[in-house]
Amino acid sequence: ADVYGIDHWGNDYFGLSDQGLVTAKTLTTQVPLMDIVQGMTERDLQMPVLLRIENILDAQIYRLNNAFRDAIKKLDYQATYRGVYPIKVNQQAQVVEEIADFGKRFKHGLEVGSKPEMIAALSTLTEPGSLIICNGYKDQEFVELGLQAVKLGFLCFFVIETPAELPIIIERSKQLNIEPLIGVRVKMTSKVSGHWNSTSGDRSVFGLSTSQLIQLVDRLKEADMLHCLQLLHCHLGSQIPNIREIRGGVVEACRYYADLCGEGAALSYIDFGGGLAVDYTGAQSNDSQSRNYNLEEYCTDIVDTLKNTLDEYDIKHPTIVTESGRATVAYSSILIFNILDVTKFEPIELPKIGDDEHQLLQDMREVLACLTLQKAQECYNDAHFYRDEIRELFKRGQVDLRTRSAAENLFLEILQQINKNLELMEHIPVDLEGLKESLADIYYGNFSLFQSLPDIWAIDQLFPIMPIHRLDEEPKRNAIIADITCDCDGKIDKFIGQQDVSSTLPLHELKDGEEYYVGVFLVGAYQETLGDLHNLFGDTNVVSVRLNDDSSFDFVKEIHGDTIADVLSYVEYEPKEMALRYRNTAERAVKEGRITARERQHMLKTYNASMHGYTYFERDE
Ligand code: PLP
Repeated sequence: ADVYGIDHWGNDYFGLSDQGLVTAKTLTTQVPLMDIVQGMTERDLQMPVLLRIENILDAQIYRLNNAFRDAIKKLDYQATYRGVYPIKVNQQAQVVEEIADFGKRFKHGLEVGSKPEMIAALSTLTEPGSLIICNGYKDQEFVELGLQAVKLGFLCFFVIETPAELPIIIERSKQLNIEPLIGVRVKMTSKVSGHWNSTSGDRSVFGLSTSQLIQLVDRLKEADMLHCLQLLHCHLGSQIPNIREIRGGVVEACRYYADLCGEGAALSYIDFGGGLAVDYTGAQSNDSQSRNYNLEEYCTDIVDTLKNTLDEYDIKHPTIVTESGRATVAYSSILIFNILDVTKFEPIELPKIGDDEHQLLQDMREVLACLTLQKAQECYNDAHFYRDEIRELFKRGQVDLRTRSAAENLFLEILQQINKNLELMEHIPVDLEGLKESLADIYYGNFSLFQSLPDIWAIDQLFPIMPIHRLDEEPKRNAIIADITCDCDGKIDKFIGQQDVSSTLPLHELKDGEEYYVGVFLVGAYQETLGDLHNLFGDTNVVSVRLNDDSSFDFVKEIHGDTIADVLSYVEYEPKEMALRYRNTAERAVKEGRITARERQHMLKTYNASMHGYTYFERDE
């Protein structure tokens, strides 16, 4: 059974094989992720690894462009679609280059929001006519780069976000004698739901108000440059779960578009920004981590609303631009890690205390003996009472450690028994509702939440998480997942279940001498960008693969993650100087007779190997 809901969130890119393995799929092939993991092991690429599947990125760009093309054709819309990818969503060179490469056939462009992103775009796109949308605050240098891009043949638009940008653009373009392509971002009042809804509304920090817009038009007229205003930009927010809100935004944008045309602007592009959501939970709902529409509906609704609204004003159809980031890259990356250890909340075999055990322990044994379905609540109360009494006595020195541990053990035994009975109960008493969670195992995963999955910590983002093998066995444990940072926030305790969000994840019992691998899916958007160096865990290893039609695959690229020397130098340590100082400490220990010279040598070797090794838990070879 699909315990983890892969058919709902997998978007046809992930599935299960008959052998109980998660597979990555294209239309013509599928490859078990475990085969790729095996290849990584053979190449000494240790866990955790961020796996990128090129075909999925390729397919998403294809699906997006094709869905717009189909909608345009079906609705007889009289202009084209041009997508751009916002670099900030995942600015890794590998990803941006792949997008530029796969997007060439659709003239898929790039969106930039800063000078570094602009420089990246200018050296990644090669085709004249490629679209570059410049959002963000632009200084003289940024503007000059953009004007030069126009000269090189790129369709490089400056989207005015604040009134202060316009004088710089007018002045620089006149000085360099290059006509700019200008866009304007309007402040949308259509409110959307979801996490990023402050992007729109009166208090949004982005875009021009209507009065600023009128000033902009007048200033451009004065400068005889109104014909340069060719693009209207509106972005309602990221991950918009409800299609009706997107439609509402399109109608509002059309009103701006029509009236700006009426003012004499030569508009011919309309840019709806990002917002196309990813169905992380697979629920197909208007919940913030889902979406109540599919890609085809998104494209059809935009084209249809645009056409109908603008036709009323008899306005020529503009080129449609969208800046889909999340939906473009989320699916193609998977974080894979191994489980290092498990803590269980179960009684263990303890040596008997003897005949003179404390009365409270005997009381607890009685609770256990008379436990029934009907008396579950009473036994639960008694177990707590006796356990707490023992803890008090221990604090006051009246019972010893062995007695206390026997009491804790009995307590767990009683709770586990009650937990087993819960499923049989018609009505679960309120006190017992959280019992399953409080007894869940803790599976320790070899990763840092803060480095690889920061949105789980920051905004309670849900990602599909599941083991990538052994799915032909029933997962009999209920667990939460902890990372290896020393931070109590470094844990995952909300999971996407078959029906609903759950606070535990079904996992398999670990097997001796065998790794257990867990995958976190749909992590291609924003996670790499926002990750940080908590506890100095650095970038993970990254592997890019391409799946072939015969179920084989190629390791296209591999990037070794940060070494300890790398992360230390990010926080201004000097690894060479550090090694020297450590050498001096060791040499002094030799001189003062605490260690031998040979021991010193061994220590320095260990130190150096560590310094140039991976920041994560490494298995002994
Ligand atoms: N364009 C702009 C201006 C944005 O601010 C964003 C992100 O919030 C995007 C595009 C990307 O949005 P998404 O990832 O929802 O596609």
